[in-house]
Amino acid sequence: MQTYPAVVAFHRTLNHDVHHIGFKPLTEVDIKPGQYLEVCLDNGWCVPYSVGNDPTQSQLLELYVQHLPEGDANIRVIEATQEGAEVTLAANGKIFYTPEWDKVPLVLLVAGCGISQARSFIEARLASGSAQPVYLCWGGGDERELFPLEQLTQWSKDKRFMADLTLDRPSDEWTFAKGTVVDTALKGLTWMTPKERSRAKVVVTGSPNMVDATRARLAEAGFAADNLLADQDYYQVRTL
Ligand SMILES: Cc1cc2nc3c(=O)[nH]c(=O)nc-3n(C[C@H](O)[C@H](O)[C@H](O)COP(=O)(O)OP(=O)(O)OC[C@H]3O[C@@H](n4cnc5c(N)ncnc54)[C@H](O)[C@@H]3O)c2cc1C
Repeated sequence: MQTYPAVVAFHRTLNHDVHHIGFKPLTEVDIKPGQYLEVCLDNGWCVPYSVGNDPTQSQLLELYVQHLPEGDANIRVIEATQEGAEVTLAANGKIFYTPEWDKVPLVLLVAGCGISQARSFIEARLASGSAQPVYLCWGGGDERELFPLEQLTQWSKDKRFMADLTLDRPSDEWTFAKGTVVDTALKGLTWMTPKERSRAKVVVTGSPNMVDATRARLAEAGFAADNLLADQDYYQVRTL
């Protein structure tokens, strides 16, 4: 496995449980938008996180890491990635942005920290010459699961970009959509013709249950099963 040394350039918390971490690689890194990095710990575990920016446009590699108190691996990652620490990274993932994707609509359906992979795809897409639309639906259980993401305002100025934010159990103050990601997305995607649905690349990022349920509903709605992409189809645990 090819590994890369890197230094933690920043490590900040965005809300009660999401850590935004930036790495400065010390050597050239071959990672494409939408792929994932593995943070390789001293005990040999390589813990996967989607790259949260377009690595081809930045000197830094960013991650959004959710702190799950019941998990051992994510806690070790958060401890090992304090600002200034040296870490070992690996890159992997079979789903990434290629120039072929410029020719078709792009649909990103994500829960919680899944926005990380979506941000990477959106940055790659908007920087490309593609005139095709990109649609994002970002959801969670309640307000605590959607953290501040400054890029949303900037993306919204681009005519190719459309987005819905949705919550299953919002508070009374919530002014966006209510419901699951797939229910909201199917309402938000009524503009897509059957031909566009059959050609669109769709990336679904969330828990295995969310991914399976979302893909089943999209297939019923005319999206091509081969184009319903999720890392869980390929991910395998690796150790150093
Ligand atoms: C492709 C992919 C992308 C992901 N992207 C993100 C993201 O952007 N943000 C986010 O917050 N989470 C992401 N996750 C989930 C994240 O990797 C953790 O699974 C999650 O934080 C839960 O951590 P945990 O502590 O419960 O560990 P677990 O889910 O139990 O393990 C996490 C990983 O740690 C390693 N590991 C754990 N135990 C062992 C062991 N005994 N031996 C060897 N290796 C071990 C394995 O690589 C395992 O996959 C992603 C997962 C995958 C598969």
